[in-house]
Amino acid sequence: MKVLKFGGTSVGSVENMSNVKNIINDGEKKVVVLSAMSGTTNQLVAIAQNIAEGKPNEAIDKINKLHETYFTTIDSLLNNDQINKRVKDFVSSVFSFLVECTYKDFSESLENHIVAQGELLSTYMFNSFLNQEGIKSALLPALSFMRIDEYNEPDLNYIEKNFKEVFNNAIDSQVYITQGFICLDDSNEISNLQRGGSDYTATIIGAAIKADEVQIWTDIDGMHNNDPRYVENTKPISNLSFDEAAELAYFGAKILHPQTVTPVRTDGIPVRLKNTMNPNAFGTLISSETTEKGIKAIAAKDNITAIKIKSARMLQAHGFLKKVFEIFETYTTSIDMITTSEVAVSLTIDDDSNLDKILFELEKIATIEVDKNQSIVCLVGHSIVNHQDTFKLFQILQDVKIRMISYGGSNNNISLLIHSKDKVKTLCKLNDYLFELVTL
Ligand code: ADP
Ligand code: ASP
Ligand code: MG
Repeated sequence: MKVLKFGGTSVGSVENMSNVKNIINDGEKKVVVLSAMSGTTNQLVAIAQNIAEGKPNEAIDKINKLHETYFTTIDSLLNNDQINKRVKDFVSSVFSFLVECTYKDFSESLENHIVAQGELLSTYMFNSFLNQEGIKSALLPALSFMRIDEYNEPDLNYIEKNFKEVFNNAIDSQVYITQGFICLDDSNEISNLQRGGSDYTATIIGAAIKADEVQIWTDIDGMHNNDPRYVENTKPISNLSFDEAAELAYFGAKILHPQTVTPVRTDGIPVRLKNTMNPNAFGTLISSETTEKGIKAIAAKDNITAIKIKSARMLQAHGFLKKVFEIFETYTTSIDMITTSEVAVSLTIDDDSNLDKILFELEKIATIEVDKNQSIVCLVGHSIVNHQDTFKLFQILQDVKIRMISYGGSNNNISLLIHSKDKVKTLCKLNDYLFELVTL
């Protein structure tokens, strides 16, 4: 069985929902994971933010507008009166719940309840649409099987067991619809897999049911060789290995949640990226196959903080790096890039929620410099460190100020740290030098 995930744009309009119906209606049994309609999760986050800031009226304004938009969509999607009414009743109950939330005190748990509503709405609507169109579909509530543990890792045994149970209860169905993104935490409270988490839901389910393939359907023809939001003339890449896809997702290629390939790479379950608006395009196949050598793609990750830790004769003083790493471990902050010299070590973090505490500890053993608003630009491919074309990368050194460089950490990745204001220029320059064959 395959698992197919459709993102926000794919379920964001009546036309696109019809495309999704045509894609999934091929007679094969399948699991379908849906995101919230595009824009909804952003609105829900903004509503929670209004409540946190003590602005309930602004929250209610947004809730009413969103409610109206859903009713308009329902009227053009569902022409069966009975189904139309049933869905409107459900949607109204969700919006009444959101209004009730505006009377409550803000908490993380309240926010999690609020942002979970987007996927509950889209799946209910889409399942009803399939029923109207005569397709045998069942709604499997993600909150009855999707759970993370105390380390925020998927609780695979629980998921496998509980997914099978809800699946078997609807064994006669053809299409099994479930919510992406939302889950329970280790205390069985509503939580989520972080923004963009529906991709991760799909591969977690794929691993739990040992799927033949996981498909991520979105609004572009697969993984492009550079970020299409900032660079012109980017091109889709037809094949990527799990390692390459994991690096790109982790280092900012928004098309995939950073953890997407983790659940499926051990079992070698292929992940295919496809375009809902252009289903005939090949897309990208991510698998265990190693592909041709050389740099294949570039991605960038923002909001990086660089920390320079200086101490006289640092490297010869054995145990120094251990002390540094222990501080980051104590504050559960992971390090992305690291470079060393005799007198200093520079490293980067993307989660700066414990930065003050980390700096307080580091200042006890060294002199510290902090640079915020940095971006990691990451070049990904196969055997890139020794590849004859890799030298072209160094052509950009004359045009862009590079703060750190990580070369040789793995054969799949070369990373550069730059100021975020130089990001677009760097991505475009690299595109020219590496993919557009500018004569040097
Ligand atoms: P969905 O809502 O379907 O999950 P996303 O917005 O999360 O879709 O991801 C798709 C978007 O990712 C694309 O529209 C594109 O703008 C962006 N993107 C960023 N980097 C890349 C890349 N390297 N290749 C393809 N798309 C990318
Ligand atoms: N709806 C969630 C988000 O916007 C999850 C997802 O789309 O993957 O982040
Ligand atoms: Mg996404």
